[in-house]
Amino acid sequence: MNHKIAVIPGDGIGPEIVAEAQKVLDAAGKKYGFEMEYTKVLLGGASIDVHGKPITDEAIETARSSEAVLMGSIGGDAATSPWYKLEPSLRPEAGLLAIRKALNLFANLRPAYLYEELKAACPLRDDIIGSGFDMMIMRELTGGLYFGERKTVVEDGVRKAVDTLTYDEKEIRRIAVRAFDIARKRRHLVTSVDKANVLDSSRLWRAVVEEVAKDYPDVALNHMLVDNCAMQLVKDPGQFDVILTENMFGDILSDEASMVTGSIGMLSSASLNETKFGLYEPSHGSAPDIAGKGIANPIATILSAAMMLRYSLDLDEAADAVENAVKKVLGEGYRTTDIMSEGCTQVGTQKMGDLIAQYI
Ligand code: NAD
Repeated sequence: MNHKIAVIPGDGIGPEIVAEAQKVLDAAGKKYGFEMEYTKVLLGGASIDVHGKPITDEAIETARSSEAVLMGSIGGDAATSPWYKLEPSLRPEAGLLAIRKALNLFANLRPAYLYEELKAACPLRDDIIGSGFDMMIMRELTGGLYFGERKTVVEDGVRKAVDTLTYDEKEIRRIAVRAFDIARKRRHLVTSVDKANVLDSSRLWRAVVEEVAKDYPDVALNHMLVDNCAMQLVKDPGQFDVILTENMFGDILSDEASMVTGSIGMLSSASLNETKFGLYEPSHGSAPDIAGKGIANPIATILSAAMMLRYSLDLDEAADAVENAVKKVLGEGYRTTDIMSEGCTQVGTQKMGDLIAQYI
């Protein structure tokens, strides 16, 4: 069985980590009887360098006609890269927003899981970590503040900037349904995060989530204000199963949750639409500070590839094999620099990919 996958290596460490994820996918394919047909797509800085813009219509069409997209990460160092001298709509990040919007990728899934082997890297005290944590952050990805109208004007000689935050009930309902569906496959708890004590958009969010909850009597729902959630993530992360929230809150909380796990280099993500199609990428950025050095941790991208096997290709057994291979490699003490600890064996990006592929 062949699967058509669009591959976006991207910028910075992107090409290095994506190559390792492809290596692992190919190893899984050999074992479980499938083959990947990869088509390379340029996005972000890599596309600016070739086409003068961060994304092209052809790139979007190649992604659209694939079963899924596997991506590294895009962007450069804003202080030094010439990409950031361009106007905002031509910078690397604009390409990412455009592909999310064009493919209607409204549901962003970011698991934050504490590996027993990496407990030492977790910045929280042992009594807070308790028996560990395993949460899934569901962030709405195509609405809210990042997609609202924005402008900067000068009024009476004073510069003024306006961003708008808009949600309609359809946008809220479809992400809430996804969150409850996923909670059903996990520990049956949804925590919906908003700022309903202040924002109208949050009051609508809360009302619609409650309507959706009625169809899921087997899933518990609680509401939490975003400022409290930011505290609870470092006070008692084990209380969360699925966190459901809007775009900007999810952006911030998912980074916080990822740091609590100890390494951003470990965390995968999936962005889904209403079909099986999804874009899979690590939660971290393009890490320009370590690009080309062969030391980036490829595990977040490899675990994103495992999510792709599970959610877009229905290859659950192969997804399990990838996740177990990662656990085995960590269990045997292999570490990239970002997760290195005493007594472990330090390996580079390629070696980490080789080991995981070998354990499949
Ligand atoms: P970053 O995640 O790239 O890096 C933050 C820190 O984590 C750096 O010290 C980096 O070396 C380290 N790091 C990140 N991934 C790692 C890995 N796999 N292995 C080891 N260490 C790793 O965040 P940043 O520095 O704020 O952003 C750099 C660029 O990435 C910016 O241009 C930003 O816009 C872009 N970015 C892109 C995405 C995306 O493609 N979805 C997401 C976030 C940031």
